[in-house]
Amino acid sequence: MQTATTLDMLRKSVAALRGDGSNIALVPTMGALHEGHLTLMRAARDHCDHVVASIFVNPTQFGEGEDLDAYPRQLAEDSAMLEGEGVSLLWAPAPEAMYPGGPKDFATSISVSGVSAGFCGADRPGHFDGVATVVCKLFNQVQPDMAFFGEKDWQQLAVIRTMARDLDLIAPHVERIIGVPTVREADGLAMSSRNRYLSDSDRTAATTLPRAMKEAIARIENGEEAAPSLAALQDALLGAGFSSVDYAAMADAMSLAPLTKLADAPARLLVAARIGGTRLIDNMGIG
Ligand code: AMP
Repeated sequence: MQTATTLDMLRKSVAALRGDGSNIALVPTMGALHEGHLTLMRAARDHCDHVVASIFVNPTQFGEGEDLDAYPRQLAEDSAMLEGEGVSLLWAPAPEAMYPGGPKDFATSISVSGVSAGFCGADRPGHFDGVATVVCKLFNQVQPDMAFFGEKDWQQLAVIRTMARDLDLIAPHVERIIGVPTVREADGLAMSSRNRYLSDSDRTAATTLPRAMKEAIARIENGEEAAPSLAALQDALLGAGFSSVDYAAMADAMSLAPLTKLADAPARLLVAARIGGTRLIDNMGIG
C-alpha cells in the first residue's frame, strides 16, 4: 500500500493505479478505524479494482467546543489495518495540503439545503457544510469511479448523495455512491470512533440506545403513532443514564422530512443522544 500526503503524490499514485483502465473506489474516513470502516473497505474492494482510503480529521466539520483536538489519531495503526484489507493507496493529507492558508482562509463552502437542515444539521451548525465541502474536495482530488459511505451517518449519506446529484459528481451518483449498512458490536451498539470516549458504565448503559430504538420501531410498525413511541424511547435513554436526547424522530428515509406515522414510503428512525459528555448517533429502518 502506498501513502500519499501531498496532492502531487496523490495525483501520481492515482494515475499509476488507473494504469490500463482499472477503476477506483474512494472510502473517506477520519481514521481511528474500526470494523465498520473496514467493512466499507471490503465493500469497495468487491466493486472496484483499487481502493483509495482517505484519513483526514476535517477541522471545518467540527463546531466550537466539539472534540476536534481530542479526536483520536492513530495513523500507523490505521495504516496497518488498511494494508491488511488490500487497500491500494492511503490518502493522508496534512492539514496544509487540504487548507493551504488554514481553514479560516478558505473562501468556498458547499451548503446542501433541505436534507442538511434538521437533526444533526440543526444541532451542529455548519457541520454538513464542512462535510460536503471536504467530500467534494476529496472527490475532485481522487476522481473515483465509486465512493462508499456508512449508513451509520444516514443524514451525511443523504447530504453527499444530494450534493453529488446537483454538482454532477461521480455521475450517475445513485449507483456510484454506495451506502453500507451499519456495523454493530455484539450487544447492538453501532461501532463508532467516539465509543472509546465512554467509561465502562456508560458503555454498558449505551446499549439501551439500539434496544430502545428497536422497541420504538416495533410499536410504530404495529400501527402506533410515532409520538408516544418516541417519547418512550426518550424516557428509556434518560432512565438509563443518558444526559440528554438531541433528537429522536421518524423521517422519510430519502428526504428526511419528519413523519408522524408510518406511510407507504420507507421511513427511518434517527436518534442523537448524549452520555457522559459523548454524543452518540444511530438510525434504523422502519417498515
Ligand atoms: P468517520 O471516520 O467516523 O467519519 O467515518 C468514515 C466512514 O465510515 C463514514 O462513511 C461512516 O458512515 C462510516 N462508518 C462509521 N462507523 C460505521 C459503522 N459502525 N458501520 C458502517 N459504517 C460506518
